[in-house]
Amino acid sequence: MSERCHFCARVPAVRYALTVCDGPPDEAGAWRHESVPICNICRRFIVEAREIGAVFWSQPGRWYMGYASGRASGAG
Ligand SMILES: [Zn+2]
Repeated sequence: MSERCHFCARVPAVRYALTVCDGPPDEAGAWRHESVPICNICRRFIVEAREIGAVFWSQPGRWYMGYASGRASGAG
C-alpha cells in the first residue's frame, strides 16, 4: 500500500473516522466527518489531544476524534 498518513508521511496503520472543522466553529456547515488514513503515532497524538481537550491542528482544518463528540464544548 502506498497510502500515507493524513498528518505525516508515515505509513498509516488504520483508517480513522475523525471530525474536522474547516470553517467557523459556530457554522454547522464547517463540521464534517471524514475517514482518513492515520499512523499509530498521529493516532495516539490525536487521541491524547482530545482527552486533554486540545485540538489537533492540520491545515486546512481542526481535527478531532470522531467517535466521541465532534463539536468542542465551550467549557474551558
Ligand atoms: Zn502520522
